[in-house]
Amino acid sequence: PDAKRIDLAECPKNLGQPIKVEGWIKHVRRQGKNLIFIDIRRRMETLQCVITGQLAKTEEASQLTRECCVRLFGTLHEEKRAPGEVEMSVDFIEIVGPSPVDLEDKLNRDSNPEQRMNQRHLDLRSDDMGCLFSLRAKMMAGFRTFFQQRGFAEVTPPTIVKNSCEGGSKMFPVKYYEEEAFLTESSQLYLETMLATLDSVYCVLPSYRAEKSLTRRHLAEYTHMEVEMAFYDFEDLLKFLEDMLVFVTNYCATEAKVELAKLNPGFKPLTGSFRRMSYAEQIQWLKDYNKQHPEDPFINAETGKEYEYGDDVPEKPERCMVDTIGEPILLHSFPKELKAFYMKPSATNPRETESVDVLIPTVGEIVGASTRIDDYQELMDRYKELGMDTESYYWYNDLRKYGSCPHAGFGLGVERLLCWIGHRDHIRDACMFPRYMGRITP
Ligand code: ATP
Ligand code: MG
Ligand code: MG
Ligand code: MG
Repeated sequence: PDAKRIDLAECPKNLGQPIKVEGWIKHVRRQGKNLIFIDIRRRMETLQCVITGQLAKTEEASQLTRECCVRLFGTLHEEKRAPGEVEMSVDFIEIVGPSPVDLEDKLNRDSNPEQRMNQRHLDLRSDDMGCLFSLRAKMMAGFRTFFQQRGFAEVTPPTIVKNSCEGGSKMFPVKYYEEEAFLTESSQLYLETMLATLDSVYCVLPSYRAEKSLTRRHLAEYTHMEVEMAFYDFEDLLKFLEDMLVFVTNYCATEAKVELAKLNPGFKPLTGSFRRMSYAEQIQWLKDYNKQHPEDPFINAETGKEYEYGDDVPEKPERCMVDTIGEPILLHSFPKELKAFYMKPSATNPRETESVDVLIPTVGEIVGASTRIDDYQELMDRYKELGMDTESYYWYNDLRKYGSCPHAGFGLGVERLLCWIGHRDHIRDACMFPRYMGRITP
């Protein structure tokens, strides 16, 4: 009763003391009738506990199963063979939340991925998932630290909206009372409304996209980190993206050492400035690739020919290019027709935009960025060109009418970056409860 409650991380400092610990059972090993070893888990820490003699024969001891939640009383001693070189001799067992033995079947790693996804709420307790979501939390802290250092304010735009940002073809309609509305695909237009108030702002919110193809980097609901910055020109934007990714990857390398040692031991944080490549050079790269790989060239599924200037380059060839090059790429100057209506045309080539995607190996695009059209008439002309209705964007257009300023911004897919840092092949593994076509539970 006078045992001190301690955190598992504090164990080495409490050798010989009467203590109590709480946690979930990772493993149970029974040796004969009188000896039970269990590993308990709390946060990222593990403690080996040993139960001997009469205690091993009690009703409580028989209830020690995988994922059972327990409170254990006892003393700590050194044990070279235990994780952390500390072991607890248990004097008293309290079963806090029993766990039936059928859990072993539910968590069977060999079962098919969809069945495993049905058990996602339990699957999240694995070591891998523990490390991954701990890494994610630290990565997010890294972003927020970076933004705070730059004086950026976090805001929360609405996610039930009337307007589209990216063309709208992938938006989920929702019934909003008697009106038709949509789940947001990007918060960017709303972020722009805060520039005259706070100068530079960001948000971390879900964006929703009704993706019809099941790729390894698309979710129907993902965490979208978006930033909008007043008085940033294109060069400022590129520099900002580099600084941010260098900062956040270094933050992860120092703050999430334990997690990375488990998930991605070879991880190297980013340094310096990134390689730059224009969209036109990307098309040339793909043509050259096809010349060198006539047996297995990249073909545009829509045209049946190789990729030409003006084509949208999808995931696979994009990923192949960045994997081959083996370092992040700032892919810039996309033609207007491939990008959203608000992106500013390039000063040197009006057919192209001041846009940039950040590509990283194993994933491809993690960021879409651009400077924005800040001139009212230019925006009106662009709507006309695209046959868009201007009236429903009246509030967005007003920003150009009343004290417009040059500005730039971007959107980053949090799960995509986490895939790369945490070394996951598939975005579903980097999301707590992934949503994709056909999946809405748990
Ligand atoms: P992609 O080319 O992969 O379809 P996108 O160009 O349509 O992406 P943007 O509209 O530029 O995406 O959105 C900004 C960022 O949001 C992307 O760079 C990406 O990191 C992330 N993102 C976009 N769509 C998804 C999705 N369906 N699932 C997860 N992340 C996404
Ligand atoms: Mg897309
Ligand atoms: Mg894209
Ligand atoms: Mg994009």
